[in-house]
Amino acid sequence: MLSALRWPRWVPTGAATQITRLHTMTSDPGFSCSCCGAHHPELPMNFTAAAPAVWNPAFADAEDCLLSSDQCVVQGQHYFVKGLIEIPVIGGNEVFSWGVWVSLSRENFSRAADRWDTPGRESEKPYFGWLTTDLPVYSPTTLNLKTNVHTRPLGERPFVELEPTDHPLAVEQHTGITLDRVREIAAAVLHPAADG
Ligand SMILES: [Zn+2]
Repeated sequence: MLSALRWPRWVPTGAATQITRLHTMTSDPGFSCSCCGAHHPELPMNFTAAAPAVWNPAFADAEDCLLSSDQCVVQGQHYFVKGLIEIPVIGGNEVFSWGVWVSLSRENFSRAADRWDTPGRESEKPYFGWLTTDLPVYSPTTLNLKTNVHTRPLGERPFVELEPTDHPLAVEQHTGITLDRVREIAAAVLHPAADG
């Protein structure tokens, strides 16, 4: 069944599901941490999950499981791609983003895989996806929020648009967040033991 799909850019990893930092603000003065009180030299503007929440490191060697930096299959029947929940930062040009996993139907995952290296792929209609990353700092959980996944040009991760509900994450994507909120998120993610 899996052999019917193509696997462009396949890079197996044994990565766990923790959120890791990807990049920081340009000309970043750092920030005073509300959590530990220290001055951290960088304010991260992106956190990304290495695998969907349902991933188990024991899957890494399984024939019917696959995990790359952008695609994941679990037990031959659950299909995921990584995308970005982008949140504008109010009063600046910066964008904060969460690198998250969304669950696609087998049909849409197959379409995305077929078009992975095709110029113009951004003309694809959005794919429906269930959010499969449990982001810190949000309550209730972000797991299984409904999204639309918008394909972007070659080399760019898809844009994940949340269903416009009153969930705090959906509200933040719609209205934007302040730089103080970015600092608050950073403090919580950098010190997970003290979060909540
Ligand atoms: Zn700190």
